[in-house]
Amino acid sequence: MSVRDFTMAKYGELCRVLLGASYTPVTVYQYLTDPPGGRTVVLRHDVDRKPENALKMAELEHALGITATYYFRHPATFVPEVIGRVQALGHEVGYHYEVLAKAKGDYEEAIALFARELEEFRTLCDVRTVCMHGSPLSRYDNRDLWKRYDFGEFGIAGEAYLSMAGKDLRYLTDTGRNWGGKHSVRDAMPGAGEIPPSVATTDDLARWIGSAGEEGLYLTVHPERWAVSEGEWAVGSLTDLVMNAGKAVLVAMR
Ligand SMILES: [Zn+2]
Repeated sequence: MSVRDFTMAKYGELCRVLLGASYTPVTVYQYLTDPPGGRTVVLRHDVDRKPENALKMAELEHALGITATYYFRHPATFVPEVIGRVQALGHEVGYHYEVLAKAKGDYEEAIALFARELEEFRTLCDVRTVCMHGSPLSRYDNRDLWKRYDFGEFGIAGEAYLSMAGKDLRYLTDTGRNWGGKHSVRDAMPGAGEIPPSVATTDDLARWIGSAGEEGLYLTVHPERWAVSEGEWAVGSLTDLVMNAGKAVLVAMR
């Protein structure tokens, strides 16, 4: 049975292809502080909506022995129970900030808000990296905050765009549910390699990874774009996936 694209089951297939092609999945923090060397994939999840999908994805990855980074917004996806569970599964939890857009370009207000929201995150989890939210409807680019301020002063080791630019990574994102689609202007990685022209669907991406690939990959995957709510069909596929993986992880998938 073929699995429909942009479902959790398909994401599971992609994870297995990565593992099968000897990629070591790492969090953003791990990559910045202690990269493993060799084939490496940085897995980043921007939780813009539907935190329940993020939890499903976190459980799926955990079942496959994968750790990734999940960036949650405040307050849009700031759900303490979900954040706690994602961290307990061994993933990195970071702060998906959008304070310059919220403050409509007022830098002082924005940095004060950054400090307050970060503090709230830190009552729940250990935040070491942050990632700007693209705020597509705003004229402000949240990253511009760091032209005036230093995230290091907040005990932050890296920013998921700024600190990852210029690394030897090919950046791919599921924006528009098309891996080869035109990214939004903001969701781009300066200095990253071009998108392979043959890649559009997740199957295309899997084929490319399996046949050619690249030493360093940086994948941004938005959990809300990967369907979990298509009823029994999706649940069944996910169970098949786990069974096929031959791992005794059914408990973790419940
Ligand atoms: Zn976002």
